[in-house]
Amino acid sequence: MANVVPMSDPALAEVRGGRDRFPVRRVYCVGRNYAAHAREMGFDPDRDPPFFFCKPADAVVSVPEGSVASIPYPPKTANYHHEVELVVAIGREGANIPVASAAEHVWGYAVGLDMTRRDLQFAMRDKGRPWELGKAFDASAPMGPLVAASEVPDIAKAGIWLDVDGQRRQESSIAHLIWSIPETIAYLSEYFRLMPGDLIFTGTPEGVGPVEPGAMLHAHVDGVPELRIQIV
Ligand code: MN
Repeated sequence: MANVVPMSDPALAEVRGGRDRFPVRRVYCVGRNYAAHAREMGFDPDRDPPFFFCKPADAVVSVPEGSVASIPYPPKTANYHHEVELVVAIGREGANIPVASAAEHVWGYAVGLDMTRRDLQFAMRDKGRPWELGKAFDASAPMGPLVAASEVPDIAKAGIWLDVDGQRRQESSIAHLIWSIPETIAYLSEYFRLMPGDLIFTGTPEGVGPVEPGAMLHAHVDGVPELRIQIV
């Protein structure tokens, strides 16, 4: 049996050290998972709980440690935003996972950017339409190399920050997540059977904002390799 069109390349995320890789199956993203970011988006975090959306696996751009990836300014937007996020990589299958055992399903962690066409996202949001145009475009999920969970024991209180052109734009702690990492996995697994290869972008802290061509973005989560991209 022959393929009638060329088979697309599988999405792969690099693992720290550069020798191994993590095949990406799905990309889940949490919206409004830090209270201060929910407020800057005009929502009350006590009344509007976090929620999920997805990006396609091939939106991932895996950036090797020590290199700067060129990310194209996307079409059809005049308000292209950065959102620095902790990325959780799922290593073990599960549905209806209890919070208490959620950590057993984690393979590892990375820092990522949920790049967003904010103008399109808001236009879709305000009409009650799906967010794909604002969130699921090509190269919208750059991420640094993954690190095995056992090598990042303090992830639950890790610092997270983003510099744009050397200026700090976002800074918070994973401890400020509304849904913790185990709670996010437990909740998501009630709706989808999580599988090895799934990534979860866990939400962005406050300070999101626009970037223009030429901008250098430097994203950081304590304990995992840094992520550097330039918008071109
Ligand atoms: Mn986000």
